[in-house]
Amino acid sequence: MNCAESKPSSEEEENYDFKRISYKGYHLFRIWPRSDDTIENLKILSEQPNVQLWLPPVKNMSVDIVLPPNIISSIKEELKENSIEFSILSTDIQKLISDQNPRHSDSRWKFKNEQTNKFTWTHYHSLDDISNYLEYLRSTYSNFVDLITIGKSAEGRDLKVIRISSDKSDIESLKPAIWIDAGVHAREWISPAVALFIIKQLVEFNNTNKNLTQNVDWYILPVSNPDGYIYTHTTDRLWKKSRSTDDGFRNRYFWEESDCKGVDLNRNWDFRWNEDGSSENPCHDTYAGRHPFSEPETRAMSNFILEHRDRIIIYLTLHSYSQMWLMPSNPTKSKSNDYDDLLYMGRKAVESLKKLHGTNYKLVAKHNIFYPTSGNSDDWAKNKVGIKYSYTIELRDRGTYGFLLPPSEIIPTGKEIFTAIRTLTKSVLINALDS
Ligand SMILES: [Zn+2]
Repeated sequence: MNCAESKPSSEEEENYDFKRISYKGYHLFRIWPRSDDTIENLKILSEQPNVQLWLPPVKNMSVDIVLPPNIISSIKEELKENSIEFSILSTDIQKLISDQNPRHSDSRWKFKNEQTNKFTWTHYHSLDDISNYLEYLRSTYSNFVDLITIGKSAEGRDLKVIRISSDKSDIESLKPAIWIDAGVHAREWISPAVALFIIKQLVEFNNTNKNLTQNVDWYILPVSNPDGYIYTHTTDRLWKKSRSTDDGFRNRYFWEESDCKGVDLNRNWDFRWNEDGSSENPCHDTYAGRHPFSEPETRAMSNFILEHRDRIIIYLTLHSYSQMWLMPSNPTKSKSNDYDDLLYMGRKAVESLKKLHGTNYKLVAKHNIFYPTSGNSDDWAKNKVGIKYSYTIELRDRGTYGFLLPPSEIIPTGKEIFTAIRTLTKSVLINALDS
């Protein structure tokens, strides 16, 4: 009898984790809606099971949409019949996922907290790797790096902010500060990767960036939604929300749905909460939560920011994708000096970014943007806390890969965003000294 173990086929490897959702045969379509009717139809289509709109549909702008195999031919026919322009970006999203995050053997994949630093920016890391890297930085650079646990996620994971400052004590510091959060939306893997790239520049290359940490305290939260981030690694690569449950409420109203966990953590902030562009349906990707700050993640972040409100001069939140540098909503819609300043500094940032690799980031005010949103963190930071320079940065790309950006783009994206943030910081500091 032959008892030798057979090598698992690639198919078996793919199904290694029985819980893992497969996107085999799912297509990624790009559609150009030219009429309000088409927009409405896309919204209706997005309510169908397993359909995902990757950006909100806007007239005359392309929309990327994930379609399950069973409806592809009928959708294609319908688009052709109605002469709606479209192209197919991928005929197998699972392949994009596998290419982006190839399986590694444990010894290669797991970064251990050793004397030598093995963290890389050539592939996307697990939450464990990221935590180990942050601990490594704290222990190696303890004279100017500290880790602060600002709270816990819905599933009880630590929310770890790295503090980089030439002053030892957080309480005693009087310096201006910059806050950066990343990984709010679980599937936007480029966001934590870029935050960690920025951290590396400020810490491991501190000799060249000393002026940035001598004059400013940095508070960076690379993974704001750790439960969602882990879930995108273990189960559903395209999961967006947190993983909280509120079973009493959900069971009462949404008992027929199978998995309606989580809240969109960028719709849960206490500014124009649950107005436009968010949903009251817990099963929806833009679910705003039961009330403003109903989620432990947004509560922890907002409390920390409020405690440091006197010192925070810049608020940044990293998202993807579409390459946009977004200015917060201006509720009065009046042109004020303040908005001229936001525009001026934003322009400096995107211009310096472009000089590096020629990458275009569109600088846009959110009240001029094509789709409405509410309960966003940058609007709260600007309009409720009064942090003058608050921006949302939508990282690479413009939709070729969307959320499945290849790891080879981590370093170029990190470099250009670090350049932009360095320019922004220096310009804001010079401006503060002048006035
Ligand atoms: Zn996002």
